[in-house]
Amino acid sequence: MEVSWWTRALKVLPGGVDSPVRAFGGVGGEPIFIRRAKGPYLYADSGKEYVDYIGSWGPMILGHNPPEVIEALQEQLSRGLSFGMGTDIEVELAELILSKVPGMEKIRLVNSGTEATMSAVRVARGATGRNKIIKFRGCYHGHGDSFLIQAGSGALTHGAPSSLGVTPGVAEDTLIADYNHLEQVSALFAAHASEIAAVIVEPIAGNMGCVPPRPGFLEGLRKLCTENGTVLIFDEVMTGFRVSDGGAAKRFGIAPDMITFGKIVGGGMPLAAYAGKESLMRNVSPLGKVYQAGTLSGNPMAVTAGLAQLRTLYQLNPWQALEEKGMKLEAGLKRAAASVGCAVQINRVGAMFTIFFSDFPVNDTESAMASNTKCFAKFFHAMLDQGILFPPSQFETTFFGTQHSEEILTKTVAAAQIAFEKAR
Ligand code: PLP
Repeated sequence: MEVSWWTRALKVLPGGVDSPVRAFGGVGGEPIFIRRAKGPYLYADSGKEYVDYIGSWGPMILGHNPPEVIEALQEQLSRGLSFGMGTDIEVELAELILSKVPGMEKIRLVNSGTEATMSAVRVARGATGRNKIIKFRGCYHGHGDSFLIQAGSGALTHGAPSSLGVTPGVAEDTLIADYNHLEQVSALFAAHASEIAAVIVEPIAGNMGCVPPRPGFLEGLRKLCTENGTVLIFDEVMTGFRVSDGGAAKRFGIAPDMITFGKIVGGGMPLAAYAGKESLMRNVSPLGKVYQAGTLSGNPMAVTAGLAQLRTLYQLNPWQALEEKGMKLEAGLKRAAASVGCAVQINRVGAMFTIFFSDFPVNDTESAMASNTKCFAKFFHAMLDQGILFPPSQFETTFFGTQHSEEILTKTVAAAQIAFEKAR
């Protein structure tokens, strides 16, 4: 008998995966293996087609294999994979991003969102000479030690929000508040004002499921940071280039001091970035004494993919159309749930949303965590059976993009009605 890929994977990869949430721990059952993708679809090794609402966890806003990105990559392939020296295209990518994102004056390209957030915090610490940071319970900023304290995403799904292996010394420097609770942040400032280097926040939380900021929350963080000489970092790894042409900072009209990017900016390749005001970024080596480097940073293949994806995005200018699609999908899903008496809350900003199985509004860490993960798991599997792949955890955000047609949305709503009935 042929041994399945999952059985083989379990023998060689911890938990069978290279990133925990892929293991279906939040929903149970055997994960699927993907062989190829096109547009809004993933194709499993079994041959089954899935409508993809994960989008590689965010990057694939143009769908899979957009011709503009693939052609640019093919051309770059013939020029070389990695040069270990500066390139014209990395400068072009840096110029493009800085021209679109308000308030940012310099940017450094790195390989993952984790590197971007770790580096941004190091810059904030170096610039302020302070050690502590504030992060929010249920927010996820990658797997850097400082962030694995009451983290969201896979860390939350798999029961390790505060990871083993983080030293007490590091953990002590991460202060925690609940997302959308400004009064808790004020209290932390009252107790530790002169010690807080940075506040890092997902301007729209996506890693406890999608939880938008309450009116006044981000404004309040801006004010507290300004008053206390603390660096405000928006982690836009998920929201950057997704919720507007200039990310969440532009959408909400709030100017952080630093922004981190990932996912969309790399067009599906390993590329991320951190940006900031000149006064902060001049601390980065070789200009200043905050060290940060990378063998493959600004890798030409990754930069090519990112540049092609961003250029295509700016040409298409799809954000209004995505908003309208999102409104239709949200309304359809709400109707479908109501028609079968299934209590859900749908939180959505543009082309990111979460269906929470809950009969009360989900507007902070606590209410997100109180939603019904068992109902979510039933919903997930009922959708999967019908060829629709949602993220396999209640505490993740669902993504769609330009390739999700009206027809696909209608099919999704019809499938969801059946799934809601099973999930109740
Ligand atoms: N920040 C946010 C908001 C994220 O959602 C993620 C990943 O999902 C990260 C940082 C870490 O990015 P990466 O997985 O590329 O290290």
